[in-house]
Amino acid sequence: MKPNEIDLHKELKKYFGFSQFKGLQEQVVNSIISGNNTFVIMPTGGGKSLCYQLPALVLNGTAIVVSPLIALMKNQVDAIRSISSENGIAHVLNSSLTKTEVNQVKSDIKAGITKLLYVAPESLTKEEYIQFLQEVELSFVAIDEAHCISEWGHDFRPEYRNLKNIIKQLGDIPIIGLTATATPKVQEDILKNLDMPDANTFKASFNRPNLFYEVRPKTKNIEGDIIRFIKQNKGKSGVIYCLSRKKVEEIAQLLQVNGISAVPYHAGLDAKTRAKHQDMFLMEDVEVVVATIAFGMGIDKPDVRFVIHHDIPKSLESYYQETGRAGRDGGEGHCLAYYSYKDIEKLEKFMTGKPVAEQEIGYALLQEVVAYAETSMSRRKYLLHYFGESFDEINGEGADMDDNMRNPKNKVEAQDEVKLLLEVIRDTKEQFKAKEIVFALMGKINAVIKAHKIDAQPLFGKGATQDERFWMALIRQVLVAGLIRKDIETYGVIKLRSRGLAFIQSPDSFMMTEDHEYSEAEDDNIVA
Ligand code: ADP
Repeated sequence: MKPNEIDLHKELKKYFGFSQFKGLQEQVVNSIISGNNTFVIMPTGGGKSLCYQLPALVLNGTAIVVSPLIALMKNQVDAIRSISSENGIAHVLNSSLTKTEVNQVKSDIKAGITKLLYVAPESLTKEEYIQFLQEVELSFVAIDEAHCISEWGHDFRPEYRNLKNIIKQLGDIPIIGLTATATPKVQEDILKNLDMPDANTFKASFNRPNLFYEVRPKTKNIEGDIIRFIKQNKGKSGVIYCLSRKKVEEIAQLLQVNGISAVPYHAGLDAKTRAKHQDMFLMEDVEVVVATIAFGMGIDKPDVRFVIHHDIPKSLESYYQETGRAGRDGGEGHCLAYYSYKDIEKLEKFMTGKPVAEQEIGYALLQEVVAYAETSMSRRKYLLHYFGESFDEINGEGADMDDNMRNPKNKVEAQDEVKLLLEVIRDTKEQFKAKEIVFALMGKINAVIKAHKIDAQPLFGKGATQDERFWMALIRQVLVAGLIRKDIETYGVIKLRSRGLAFIQSPDSFMMTEDHEYSEAEDDNIVA
């Protein structure tokens, strides 16, 4: 069919049974069938698959879908096959296929039957496949989980880096990148790496107004606290994420002996047990799954009512992704994270021995997690700001849905301090990260301060009346307010934005909230 002859709503109904497009789907589909490079950023559950599946089904030729996970590809292929009488409409091409199977795939593609061909990035490097694909009609290449291209994404895969070169060999065909990771840096990397600066970009909001965000201090009584939380939410489905398999087993057992129906899930269990536990959760034979991050990929249980993080994750992308499994039906979803700085130190330790750039990235991502956990401002605003989205914390959708907004801390006027902070950033030539700026404000010396003779500057030590926590909190709030920015290329050097410069010229009121203090709670045996 020619693009202008297609009745999209009819095709949507015919293939998927839906009478309406969701969010930006229609615009995306139009962009793809008109042959444009297209970039789609939508949160999990936003309906990304349909964005390329529908165009693939209606366009001439075969669409190649690059996806990192074989299990997910199989699910997708099964789903597509179920809506067609033609089994060959979708295929997976990978190294596990027999010669006969590969021949079947090839003949279906040649015959024009196959509309969607799923491949793992490493399979696409095979010379035999490339040669074959050069000879057949292709509609476009969709790259799912496109953030795997970026080292700043939460799942960097080097083989994704080579995709553009391979696609070039296949001819001049449009590329569609799709991801649920929205940080501006990752987006920039994707567009650059796929060499498609002209791509039509569609970004859906990442706000999940029905999710309630809460952070609690991780005390010695965390286990009792979790049990109490689950008992208060009796009958509801939930996931508890832990960092280690050992912790998963421990917590699952603990819940069981406390009369809560729970099963463990981690990559150390055999495939049969994992599948069984996953099914038990989906079928509501158990209320709670205690899991490592191995759990969740492709899980589409709509009524998960809570996601608890026993251990804080290594990035806000992971946190958003994991909490995103709650409340997919639009109903309540309580996202509770336990936080202790000791856990951050543990995560930092895991990074030692890795290449320096990787460590720097890991460290910068962790600092964002710390900032999120310790902040007293709207958590939703903080998260969305991280994803490059602005949010009105008073009137925005879901504005009161977090612990900080429900129980706000006192705000204090910090106009003078903001001015001082911005002046210090300016006078030290915008070349330092938050830590050095705080040192300069407080008059503290370290090697960097000495080497750059910051201690000889007039403003050195002018902020010593406040403590380190105050300044760190202020930096975070000034960042979210858009007066300064963190430079990503240098892993977090603070730069002034034009609004920051304007503030120095004519200072305005700036109401700040103090951050939470969690470090004391860690050592106390608080009965919560
Ligand atoms: P993503 O890949 O973005 O996480 P999916 O493609 O898995 O999202 O879609 C999430 C859910 O939304 C699926 O259950 C899918 O069937 C449903 N969905 C997608 N498009 C529509 C639509 N137009 N109308 C109703 N439901 C839709």
